[in-house]
Amino acid sequence: MNLFYSTMSRRQFMKGLGLAGVGTGVASLAPQFHDLDELASNSSSAQRSWWVKEREHYNPVNEIDWNLFKQYDKTKNPFYSRPQSVTDKVNARDLEIQKEAFSKKVPGDSLRDYGFSQGSSFIGPQAPWDGPTASLPAAAGGVAWQDSAENNTRMMRAAIHAYGGVLTGALEVNDKTLRIFPKDMFVFSNIDKAQQDKSTFQVPNKCKYILTFTVKQNYIQSTYGLRAADEYPGGYGTKMALGNQAIGHAYSGNAQVGYAAMRMVKSMGYQTIYNGSYLSTNVGLGVFSGIGEQGRPAYVCTPDYGLMIRYTNYFLTDMPLAPTPPIDAGILNFCKTCIRCGDGCPSQSISKEADTTWDAAGTWNRPGFKGWYINWQTCIDFGSPGACMNCLVMCPFNHPAEGVIHPIVRAVAATTPMFDRFFGQADRAFGYSRPRSESEMQDWWDRDLKNCEFDTTLGAGKSAW
Ligand code: SF4
Ligand code: SF4
Repeated sequence: MNLFYSTMSRRQFMKGLGLAGVGTGVASLAPQFHDLDELASNSSSAQRSWWVKEREHYNPVNEIDWNLFKQYDKTKNPFYSRPQSVTDKVNARDLEIQKEAFSKKVPGDSLRDYGFSQGSSFIGPQAPWDGPTASLPAAAGGVAWQDSAENNTRMMRAAIHAYGGVLTGALEVNDKTLRIFPKDMFVFSNIDKAQQDKSTFQVPNKCKYILTFTVKQNYIQSTYGLRAADEYPGGYGTKMALGNQAIGHAYSGNAQVGYAAMRMVKSMGYQTIYNGSYLSTNVGLGVFSGIGEQGRPAYVCTPDYGLMIRYTNYFLTDMPLAPTPPIDAGILNFCKTCIRCGDGCPSQSISKEADTTWDAAGTWNRPGFKGWYINWQTCIDFGSPGACMNCLVMCPFNHPAEGVIHPIVRAVAATTPMFDRFFGQADRAFGYSRPRSESEMQDWWDRDLKNCEFDTTLGAGKSAW
């Protein structure tokens, strides 16, 4: 242990972990640390740990073929065109599960748990498309806030953190980033004020900046959403109401953070425009602005919160913002041997192939990147993403960073891929992301509120008071 409390070079640290001398090239990546606490808390930027590398703009870890990566026709996704017969079948199944669960007061899925989940479900507030009511105050004399694009991005990151968001990025509207959005979602022209035309928005050319941000979803609460095989009505797969609350809460939190951020920007004399978040949009925005990498289940996976961010929210603005680049935290490499989300998927919708591919799984995927493509048809036929949260909860990157081992595992995974398989197996062996027992579900209602951690995630930071 002395090693950990004396001045320790990166080589000694790696040696302590048994990594030195294996020719991995990690020595050039890690800075010097005095102890493990310093390693765990060290950051290379305001919101990033030292092991997260920034890449070139428009060059994420997933290779992109810009000849194929085009605006997406969202009507091709069964999420937007699910036949009524499939919806009816899923609703009938869920009704039967709920009838049994309510009548038996099944722990984690009783009417009490359902009511609790509904309390958080999509309550917003979602700002209007052009932002909440707000304007430049008279005292500003008609002059909007003036600062550099870099400072504005930093300013918004600081503000969003206080509003409750954990990660903030930015992109500039151009030929590449416009391809992230579905067809006809935004039409840019030489007008002064944004206008709405049915579902299309006429956007002034000057509103060429995109702010991206996300809140954290409560991982601990989410684990109460996993339904154990055969022990509960409905069997393995569909989610339990007690954990489902975390999803609704995160959606609501992200909407609330967006509301506050848009109101702030409008109060400083700028426009804001938001036109909904779509399946294909939120992942592209998150990957290209460095919120995270695209993980195996086609969602954004972040270095510090794993898949426990609900979605990447955004708005367009004419406030100058400095774009933030994609990141490399070793996640895509880790996914190659982990496959926890794939193994946990009740509808086998997630690829279990070891390596990434250019081949889309169906017309519901947008081609043009080398990654893992999800089978949206089987996922949506199962009733998801509404009916299931298994893939999201399984991810080893979800674990709270407060335990010292977790930042170390993240750092090693980011710098030394040869240990990825071991960490993935260890995650299984330690029993992380397992369904909760009946008594755990029951005891949740009588938990120690004074010492309970992670009850709410709308609000970001390390310390409580
Ligand atoms: S949400 Fe879809 S992809 Fe994810 S585990 Fe459930 S069925 Fe599978
Ligand atoms: S569970 Fe494993 S394979 Fe899936 S996204 Fe997370 S790290 Fe990747």
